[in-house]
Amino acid sequence: MQIKDKKVLNCSECEFKKMFDYGNRIYYCDNEDRGDDIGKLGVGELPDRSPEWCPLRGQ
Ligand code: SF4
Repeated sequence: MQIKDKKVLNCSECEFKKMFDYGNRIYYCDNEDRGDDIGKLGVGELPDRSPEWCPLRGQ
């Protein structure tokens, strides 16, 4: 796994993240090019870094 690219993003600073509050805060990625069907990022908190399937990685 290569994480040399400085553009590996933090989802918390990304315009594509969405949060739904169904009792728990559920975070999703709303980028249509996401490499994951569901795009779930986390429950209660966001990951430190964008996931492997982040479409903005390596751009
Ligand atoms: S996975 Fe990538 S595109 Fe999606 S919210 Fe996180 S940083 Fe943004």
